[in-house]
Formats: sequence, structure tokens, C-alpha cells
Amino acid sequence: MKDFFSATEKESISNAIGAAEKLTSGEIRLFVEAGCKGDTLDRAAFVFEQLGMQKTKLRNGILFYLAYRDHKFAILGDVGINIHYGDNFWEEIKKNMEQFFAAGKFCEGIMVGVAQAGEALAKHFPPLGDNPDELSNAVVMGN
Ligand code: CA
Repeated sequence: MKDFFSATEKESISNAIGAAEKLTSGEIRLFVEAGCKGDTLDRAAFVFEQLGMQKTKLRNGILFYLAYRDHKFAILGDVGINIHYGDNFWEEIKKNMEQFFAAGKFCEGIMVGVAQAGEALAKHFPPLGDNPDELSNAVVMGN
């Protein structure tokens, strides 16, 4: 399962996150694991906490959560995000991404979603000061 994304793909995704974050003070992360037995959003919320994603200054972290074996996917924003963006908005990005996933194009789908999330974040969360990278852009692989 560590091979779900190749090293090159992980680097591409990480670079896409870095590029998206240049537009915004928001922080984007991707967590990937094989299985998710329970509720997808509950699991994503648990991972969000585990990764310390609630520690951004403006509470504007976004987690992309993917359990590829169980075909589960969620986008979860912190409280700062939810003030500005409704659930439907993330549903749109999700739908776009799932079209790629359905074709087996996971890396491309993630990159498209990350870029769209960056553009969306820029509207309410422009870069601040030197726009510190508060959360690592590296793809996080679970067990
Ligand atoms: Ca980051």
C-alpha cells in the first residue's frame, strides 16, 4: 500500500499543494490510507486532529482524506473555513475529483482538487505577511 502513490506522484502532489498555498494563508493536506471501516467524515475529523491541523492561526486548514481500498473520500475544513464556505461548495470539488478517481486517475484527481481548493481559499484567505507554511505539504500515508 505504500506504493499506492509513486514517489514521483507524491512529489507532484506536494508541489501542487505548495503552489495552491502560494495564493492563500490556508493550509492543505492529503492523508491516504487503505481502509476506512466507519463513517468517512468521523475518520477524517480524527485524522485532522491527529495531524494537528487545528493549530493554524486562522483555523483555515483543509484535509483531503482518501481511503482507496474502501473507495471513501472526504474534504474537511477547519472552523475558519466553514464560516465562509458551505458544504455544497466542497461537494462540487469532490465531484470533480471523483470523476478522475473513477477512471483510476488518483494523482490527477487530487491535483485538480488541490488547485481548486487553493483558488477557493484565496477568496477569503489571501496570503498574510510572508505566508508561512504552517503545515507540511508532504502527502501523509496511514497504515
Ligand atoms: Ca502547507
